[in-house]
Amino acid sequence: MGSVSKAYIVTGGSSGIGLAVVQALLAKDAVVHVIDIAPTVPKPLLEADRSGRVYVHQGVDVSSRAQVDKTFKAILDRSPEIHGLVNSAGIISESLDGLNLPESDESFRGVMEVNLFGTWIAGTAYLNHILDRNPNMRSSPEEMEVKEGLGSIVNLASESILRTDPGMASYNTSKHAVVGLTKSWAKDFVRRGVRVNCVAPGMTDTPMIQNESIPPEMVEDFINTVPLKRPARPEEVAQLIVFLLEETSSYMTGQTIPIEGGITI
Ligand code: NAD
Repeated sequence: MGSVSKAYIVTGGSSGIGLAVVQALLAKDAVVHVIDIAPTVPKPLLEADRSGRVYVHQGVDVSSRAQVDKTFKAILDRSPEIHGLVNSAGIISESLDGLNLPESDESFRGVMEVNLFGTWIAGTAYLNHILDRNPNMRSSPEEMEVKEGLGSIVNLASESILRTDPGMASYNTSKHAVVGLTKSWAKDFVRRGVRVNCVAPGMTDTPMIQNESIPPEMVEDFINTVPLKRPARPEEVAQLIVFLLEETSSYMTGQTIPIEGGITI
């Protein structure tokens, strides 16, 4: 009998780092569910979809509890066991050029809604899925046998938690909060078999930094300060995420791992 493919959920999986994670997981014969607000399925994902192991849930806003819960229900109907979740959906602050400070309430709230609440909403939906499959784990940890290997969450922070970037108050704040959330979930779920880790990439060559609202000279200046003199490739970040998702990292939880070309040395 052939082995059953593992199933994963990747938010923000239509683009950039999330898309590279989808491709890396497909190369390992996994089934992948993508949750993304993008209304259309981009070409690389359509190509990956030919594997028959990608399910794209498009037009879903991770900051909406109702939309995420509805999507999880559809996902669980198809894949009753989800082995891991990657929270890669994210947006950037409006005030990057430093000309528009302080950031507006609207921008600050919008970034927190997606980067922090989106991580919270998809993460809690996933943790409830694990508890629903293992109802005895809803009891208090003292009465609980230690479980291992039931699930894994990888969140996305940024090197800006180590080396604060200017003009990005909402983004920097949201990413610090994601690190705090990672540690809290890691502690609360360590005996319940779920590991929770975080990666903190430096500038990565994705549509997020190719965005017209980011002045190209700002990107160039940033890259000049990176000892490796280039942005990360999304595939490089994806390999680290997949390592943290899988049982190869079974003794790691609550950690935030920088992957930043040496900029924080
Ligand atoms: P990206 O813009 O290429 O991809 C982000 C994806 O998230 C897009 O597909 C977008 O449609 C989706 N998304 C945005 N808002 C959403 C919402 N409300 N609901 C659902 N999906 C939503 O960006 P990326 O560079 O791949 O970034 C991925 C993650 O990595 C983000 O959390 C980002 O903050 C983080 N990160 C990126 C960099 C970088 O330089 N690119 C550096 C450090 C951290």
